[in-house]
Amino acid sequence: MQADYSFRILVADLSSGKGEYRRFGDKREVLGGSGLAAALYAEFGKPDLPALDPSQPLIFAIGPLTGCFPMMSKTVCGFKSPYNERFAESHAGGRLALSLRFAHIDALVVVGRAPTLSCLGAGIRQLEVKDVHYLKGMDVFTTGKMLRKMFSGGAGHRSIIRIGPAGESLSGFACINVDSYRHFGRLGAGAVMGSKNLKAIMVEGGSAMPAPEGKDYAALYKDIHMQLTTTSMMKKYHDLGTAENMAVMNRMRALPWRNLQTTHDDERIDRISGETFARELLLRKTACTGCPVGCIHVGLLREQFAKDNDVLYRQVAYDHEPVFATGSMLGMGSASDVLSVLDEIERQGLDAISGGVALAWATEAFEKGAVTEAETLTPLAFGDAKAYRDALIHLGTPPNEFYSLLAKGTMAAAERYNGQDYACVLGQEMAGYATGEVFFVSSALGMRHSHLDSAGYSYDQKSQDKDVGKAVAFMLEDERQRCVLTSMVSCLFARSAYTEEALGKALEVLGYPEMAANLSAASETVRRLRWKTKFATGFDPDQVKIPKRYLEVVTWKGPIDAQYLNDLKQAYAVEIRKLAQ
Ligand code: SF4
Repeated sequence: MQADYSFRILVADLSSGKGEYRRFGDKREVLGGSGLAAALYAEFGKPDLPALDPSQPLIFAIGPLTGCFPMMSKTVCGFKSPYNERFAESHAGGRLALSLRFAHIDALVVVGRAPTLSCLGAGIRQLEVKDVHYLKGMDVFTTGKMLRKMFSGGAGHRSIIRIGPAGESLSGFACINVDSYRHFGRLGAGAVMGSKNLKAIMVEGGSAMPAPEGKDYAALYKDIHMQLTTTSMMKKYHDLGTAENMAVMNRMRALPWRNLQTTHDDERIDRISGETFARELLLRKTACTGCPVGCIHVGLLREQFAKDNDVLYRQVAYDHEPVFATGSMLGMGSASDVLSVLDEIERQGLDAISGGVALAWATEAFEKGAVTEAETLTPLAFGDAKAYRDALIHLGTPPNEFYSLLAKGTMAAAERYNGQDYACVLGQEMAGYATGEVFFVSSALGMRHSHLDSAGYSYDQKSQDKDVGKAVAFMLEDERQRCVLTSMVSCLFARSAYTEEALGKALEVLGYPEMAANLSAASETVRRLRWKTKFATGFDPDQVKIPKRYLEVVTWKGPIDAQYLNDLKQAYAVEIRKLAQ
């Protein structure tokens, strides 16, 4: 039987409350995931209108291997970012990808604005928009509880994604929480939901899918599953989880502490390392649907809620990035303090990296006298978890000009209060790797301004030479390879198992031989399409600034080389301009 290479998409218009299923595009050209999200933005997006205009689309796309192979568990969210007014992508796991697959939806495109705060329900043949005005201002966890009761029928097959107060207040740091422990974290996708009066989306994957015929599929599935579960490939992610990186980065003089004033603290690291979290707080591990690894580490936070009274407990997930952003970056001295700050970030529906890094800047600004308690409303000090929890409530729903600006981005506040030099912003608030010049440039100029755009952090750790051509070639090829994975849409932790050869075989056994044969060329098409879409919304790499703080960093290789950094930045900018033509 001839394979169907078109995508089945659902376009939901919140203004009318109506939706339409339709066929779109060609899998041989854009693959799925990242490629599909960019193609859909090219079709439905309004590059010249503001990110929060109701006509802008909010896109959720999966890939051709979703639900058919292990760790094909992610969804790509495509949108125009209210943080920087550019086309953006954010990725998340949880149950959403498989719920979309079992609802037979390759992509959900949400446009328009609901007349009242609403929840969108989508399934194989149904679409409904429910009025949920009574959830206004409600935190992410309470919202989740209410929605699970409202949609009690689909348990086990459904995914519930939602926003907290930060999304409703249109913060540039607002994330979309996915099934409690995963997030579309970066670049403000939660504010796009808020601008549409959309508190939540419930996708019910209530259908079935026939397994591919023949023995080849079962044999390939087993081979990949064995690699992931019986070799050491995924051991780190399952055992200590990515929080293992905390001590590793600290040893390498690459862990940002106290707003990147230093890259190591040998006295404090043991209090907030992955090992300490595992020993003192780890309660359980869990996984995205379709993943046999389970890297999601959930800690137990116990807090006495009143004097002479019992404790209450909460379950809070932790990874390297949130622990760095609310731990070392905020100078925290205990793992349970870090969890308590993360718990408030989750409730507000804020991105953990951006929220933590923004407060680190605010703390240094407070120490320097650039801002006072009149602005921060609470005296900020590194290591003070209580002050940070209070500040996060203000960041979620800004009560004054200071928090309103900070919620737009650290640099917006830094420009107003003259603190640009020490704003830890590389395109957006930095990830937890102060490894050196290649990471700084790949994040500042990268497609997603993320540590996941390319492994610049790894290049810095392995290479001591300062060969601009070699480093740029590495970033470009690594980005292209990741485009294949994020179009499928695989968890990037599985990149050793999912080589292009393995992905080609997987597509073949699913009946997509033409995609398999064209994988490398299609990844180049996807990469170019993403850059074209980003440039169409006004991205200019020459306007990107790397703040002075990064020139003061000292890593295991010594001080940052400003000339090398600048040469890299210029050379990479030339290459991405070419890609966008
Ligand atoms: S390794 Fe972790 S993030 Fe990746 S799919 Fe599995 S549980 Fe999800």
